[in-house]
Amino acid sequence: MTDTKKTDTRLITSGRRKEWSHGVVNPPVYRASTCLFETYAELRERCADPSAKQLFYGRKGTPTQWALEEAITELEVGAGTMLYPSGVAAITGAILSLVRTGDHILITDSAYEPTRTFANGLLRQMGVEAEYYDPLIGDEIKTLFRDNTRLVMAESPGSLTFEVQDLPAIIETAKENNIFVVVDNTWATPLLLKPLDMGADISIHAVTKYIGGHSDIMLGSATANERTFRSLQRTAYQLGQTCSPDDAFLASRGIRTLGVRLKVHEENALKIAAWLKGRPEVAKVLHPAFEDCPGHELWERDFAGSSGLFSIILKGGDYPDTAALVDEMTLFKMGFSWGGYESLILPSDPRDSRSVTKWEAEGPVVRLHIGLEDTDDLISELEAGLERYAAHINKQAAG
Ligand SMILES: *Cc1c(COP(=O)(O)O)cnc(C)c1O
Repeated sequence: MTDTKKTDTRLITSGRRKEWSHGVVNPPVYRASTCLFETYAELRERCADPSAKQLFYGRKGTPTQWALEEAITELEVGAGTMLYPSGVAAITGAILSLVRTGDHILITDSAYEPTRTFANGLLRQMGVEAEYYDPLIGDEIKTLFRDNTRLVMAESPGSLTFEVQDLPAIIETAKENNIFVVVDNTWATPLLLKPLDMGADISIHAVTKYIGGHSDIMLGSATANERTFRSLQRTAYQLGQTCSPDDAFLASRGIRTLGVRLKVHEENALKIAAWLKGRPEVAKVLHPAFEDCPGHELWERDFAGSSGLFSIILKGGDYPDTAALVDEMTLFKMGFSWGGYESLILPSDPRDSRSVTKWEAEGPVVRLHIGLEDTDDLISELEAGLERYAAHINKQAAG
């Protein structure tokens, strides 16, 4: 690439073409199903290449979606991006674009649970066999390769448990064996890890999370390299995938502040994780920037930083005891998803969503998303919660 703009500049300029925004800063929301053609010649010209970014039919996008696609493509440094109505749809769309009946695929045992559900459900029905691998396997993943292995689906760090994978090693050995690699890059955003630069074929985001950034949209993206983009695009078209222009608009707006938001998420999360590390109620801090976290040294080597999501393992107790911790919180509410400006807390049990590795820990896992609030307020709420948790366990032990 000859374009040498720095990332913070790219976040501001990417996807903003004059012909799409007509001189305003934010590309407007184009709501459209039918696009109109003046002449038969124009109709034929615009239909000739449905993937060209010209108005053709609403499902193929409008400048609102194209601006977002272009911005994500530029940040991930790919050949092109397809948008989907959710992160899960991006994952299923990307996998479907690369596999066919009779294939074998490898999925990390620490995968986002709906990825697993899809693999064990629809993919199996289609005659695609999914096998799970230990997220810490590194290049030993090659021992699992078969003649019909088509794809590796990685996610680093892992959902809930945050194991960091040796992506360069996995990608290298997969490439040697002509196997595609798809990476769910949601945790890192395009700013902290660039899987395509490392040689992966497709990088996926739940745009719902940090790119959206305000907990008010559902959207997914898949950015592909040259060798896989056509196939990704063809599959998305065949599946009728599209996304709402309103959500695309909000995601484009989210991108402009992604850099500054993420810096504060990172700073706040590091501060709170360090504080938690010193607490007697906490056994381990599963934050990639901390040594407790499996693969910490790989994070240090490969990632440009950390985001606001991590887990802790509590000392003693079991999941029902976590009610004492979470029930009276006012800033940390429980909620699925994350990546918005608000902090979240979620007791989450990894035991049931594993098949080749066994999750063993001395207490329950609690996932935290650290938002943009003042960390003093967050810490005092966590302190009170941990004290309630410890008191509850002591009371039970006393009978
Ligand atoms: C949330 C999430 C998804 C799914 O995104 P949705 O938009 O909720 O469908 C996929 N991968 C990871 C890692 C996630 O955290």
